[in-house]
Amino acid sequence: MDTVVCRGIGVSPGIAIAPALVLELRLSQVPKFDLAPDAVEQEIIRLDDAVAAVHRQLERIEQQTGRELGSAMAQIIDAQGLMLDDSSFVDPIRDRIRKLGQNAEWAVKAVGDDLSERFSEISDSYLRERGNDLDDLTARLLRTLAGSGDFRLDNLADPVVLFAYDLSPSDTAMLDRTKIMGFVIDVGGRTSHSAIMARSLEIPAVVGLHNATERVRSGDEVIIDGTEGAVIIHPTVAILGEYRNKRRSYAAHDAELLATRDLPSVTPDGVQIKLLANIESASEVAAARQHGAAGVGLFRSEFLYLRRPTVLPSEEDHYREYRAALEAMAPDPVAVRTLDLGGEKQMPGEFRRLQGSNSLLGLRAIRHSLQEQQMFVQQLRGLYRASNHGDLRIVLPFVSGLGELLEAKALMARVRQDLEAEGHAVTEHVPLGVMIEVPSAALVVGHLANEVDFFSIGTNDLIQYLLAVDRNNDAVAHLYKPLHPAVLCLLDQVMQVAKERGIPVSLCGETAADPLTAMVYMGLGIDELSMSPRSIPVIKNLVRRLSYAEARRILLRSLRLASAREIEEFALEQLMAHFPDGFLAAARGKERCGS
Ligand code: PEP
Ligand code: MG
Repeated sequence: MDTVVCRGIGVSPGIAIAPALVLELRLSQVPKFDLAPDAVEQEIIRLDDAVAAVHRQLERIEQQTGRELGSAMAQIIDAQGLMLDDSSFVDPIRDRIRKLGQNAEWAVKAVGDDLSERFSEISDSYLRERGNDLDDLTARLLRTLAGSGDFRLDNLADPVVLFAYDLSPSDTAMLDRTKIMGFVIDVGGRTSHSAIMARSLEIPAVVGLHNATERVRSGDEVIIDGTEGAVIIHPTVAILGEYRNKRRSYAAHDAELLATRDLPSVTPDGVQIKLLANIESASEVAAARQHGAAGVGLFRSEFLYLRRPTVLPSEEDHYREYRAALEAMAPDPVAVRTLDLGGEKQMPGEFRRLQGSNSLLGLRAIRHSLQEQQMFVQQLRGLYRASNHGDLRIVLPFVSGLGELLEAKALMARVRQDLEAEGHAVTEHVPLGVMIEVPSAALVVGHLANEVDFFSIGTNDLIQYLLAVDRNNDAVAHLYKPLHPAVLCLLDQVMQVAKERGIPVSLCGETAADPLTAMVYMGLGIDELSMSPRSIPVIKNLVRRLSYAEARRILLRSLRLASAREIEEFALEQLMAHFPDGFLAAARGKERCGS
């Protein structure tokens, strides 16, 4: 078979070699062809086999759901089984195959679409929502026909490289990292949450390939190089050998960098820039420590919700998770960000109705927490109860101005009072920070400074909203510019106010992990950079070799340049000049090439 090489955006470094597993057949990409008359009966048998297989899958899932989540949840699965038996679903599919000579996939899609449209017109909201069950069922049947229906991401038998059109954050949260050697996604960019998750799970990943899922079949041997953004389907023996060697040399390179783990993160002219870890669960503190993190700068607590799609975490779940992280990281700090769902991070399954529309400008993060206060209170109670198990900080996401901050603080004060009245010990002062990730917040930091202990700049969103470039849309990935003059100018303004007001600033967007942007941002005088644990050794190398005075000079020059391109070229030139061994430039170049 011919070797196929596809190029995308390498978002999580490393090399994986394993058979492919194609997760999702996009409904818009269902194959359509006419059957030869003598192939019709065989196609009916193929459909019946797939229907029987789906029945077996649903039975298994129903039993498991019943055991783990109770009978009410199991009934949802049972309802799908009943739909599958319903003559109004399967009979028209058979008719299309027999009478119109359509292939089974196309017949399933046509009938599924038709019924789905009819469901969407029903006025009763409960019945209308059953349309989602029907869509799930159609997708399952299509996946089964394509040979990849019966698996769960958290329960795979053999190692695979996962191919999907897209992977939701909740899919990613459930990946079994011992079996998923790497993943490849048709859409997405460097700061999409599945890319961020891949880095924290240390799974090589390539995104933004447009049509990789159409070029590969489950079982095909593949290599993915998450450093260079390459995906190779049906590699030859020689290519396999080459990549095995490459894998060994990456591992040696990582080991070399890890040797800096216990060295201080201080510039040659004595300025300390603390390097912290971004994590999504308490279990990742071990990796943070292993890579030399001086604390957790961002604990994305929403993954507590995404990992278990059918149950909301209780106060006790929150408490246990934060306590575990605090104890594992003690005496170093852990900054927990309160729930940030919305945008692409959808509330899981049954709870989606709490969230409303999936708009990037919708009911996201703090907006949601202030509306669904009961959920927010559960989280705050868990946080405050955990507070005396380590050095806790709380960060509020997506704040757009003073009003939301004051409202949240009032609620936090009430929660603290209630806990104290109940006899719980709460640390006297839990430092509070706000994410600076909405441009309006960046413009009013002077007012926010009166109410918080620190700022945490989230460049992933700040750049998205400032430049009006969707961070998850690969079609506009080339416009997502961390070194755009508007970005530098706004960051500089924030830092000037923060310095005047004596407010420490941490920066936790993905830009912190990119040597090129980190070099320029260092000159802003940021106190802490927080990133996925794996990136810490590379950035420590940068900090230990570049003086703050030099970084400042680079920043001031950059601030005078008129376009992102000029700044990028200048910064790259400087990076090469300061690191002629090419070490950092190579690390960065590899991550970006092929996009
Ligand atoms: C950010 O926006 O930069 C950030 C760190 O938050 P998230 O990526 O979770 O939106
Ligand atoms: Mg954000």
